[in-house]
Amino acid sequence: MKLSHRITHLTPGGSDGWEVFYRARALKAAGQPVIELTIGEHDIRTHPSILDAMHASAKDGHTGYAAVPGTEALRQAVATRIQTRTGVATTPDNILITPGGQAALFAAHTAVCDEGDVALYIDPYYATYPGTIRGIGATPKAIPAYPDNGFQPRASDIARHAKGAASIMINTPNNPTGAVYSHATLQEIATTCIEHDLWLISDEVYDTQLWDGDHISPRALPDMAERTLVVGSMSKSHAMTGSRVGWICAPTKVIEHLINLATHTTYGVAGYIQDAAEFALGQGEALEAEISAPFARRRQITETLLATQNIVKGSPIQGAMYAMLDIRATGLTGSAFANDLLDTHAIATMPGESFGVAAAGHIRVAMTIDDETYKSALQTLLDFATTKAA
Ligand code: PMP
Repeated sequence: MKLSHRITHLTPGGSDGWEVFYRARALKAAGQPVIELTIGEHDIRTHPSILDAMHASAKDGHTGYAAVPGTEALRQAVATRIQTRTGVATTPDNILITPGGQAALFAAHTAVCDEGDVALYIDPYYATYPGTIRGIGATPKAIPAYPDNGFQPRASDIARHAKGAASIMINTPNNPTGAVYSHATLQEIATTCIEHDLWLISDEVYDTQLWDGDHISPRALPDMAERTLVVGSMSKSHAMTGSRVGWICAPTKVIEHLINLATHTTYGVAGYIQDAAEFALGQGEALEAEISAPFARRRQITETLLATQNIVKGSPIQGAMYAMLDIRATGLTGSAFANDLLDTHAIATMPGESFGVAAAGHIRVAMTIDDETYKSALQTLLDFATTKAA
């Protein structure tokens, strides 16, 4: 039986730079101890108070179909959070609750791209981006953002690709680079969107993990609210990755259509998960700070250790839970470095090449293990790089 082109071409075949990750998982399954600095999952679990709220809601009977757009209370809580942080007037009618940020990215592209439209995104990119765009029948086109510019995209590169495109997706704080886009970068992106009549899809799932500078939501820039779809999630901010709850904030007309899409796809998000999310948001920034604190500490460990040597160069870790390390002084590709490090020291990292072309010669380290193990693994990595460069 024939399967659709859409699903069989979602991800390209062949090497995609994820071999190190899968090899590490296979070694672990075979009983070998491997230190995994690969994916963006906290080393803590969801806070017990959030689980209590989830349990209470379920026991209370919120286990039936929930309202498809999201509960009024959670939509209000998200709208309030966004309005408080950005100053842009936001009501529950601007919000759709989704089963996580990934589903929101897919829905957002469905809303603004037709079959065959060009949808732009920035390279280095989060792994699912091109597949998400292909999945809705549009054509992904990457705009490189290079390390010599702190992985911030340049206006001239965006403008060169913008003509005729339908949308552009950005992510700040950024996975995989740790960059936080400056006001100037975001204003340039906004100007290009207005000039070329592009929709902006702004992935802000790391908005609570900010180590340097300010998180600016581009929806708050002049004339951008009407053309911006913001994607948010409880995954990173509240260590709720497994609960699958996030949102899209967009103009009401867009949300009306997205509710229709949700009716025909997800049919909403579990009510007890939404009640838990509402409780979590109600705890305010104190709980978010508690959850992001380990990454702030490990970012400091990273900067301190990097300063002790001059082979591996760190890109500024301005936000998110990753360090993008430049290992070009070793003469190795990111992929060769990561494979060799796994084979010789049982430490798994992600080659920069798994995130596109712009981070070639880099490796991404996820700061997602306990401080002491992280420190010693990073020291081993730096010693390994020094040996290779000799
Ligand atoms: N965007 C980025 C940049 C991510 O790193 C992730 C998850 N790693 C997501 C979106 C999706 O997160 P979730 O579906 O868990 O909300």
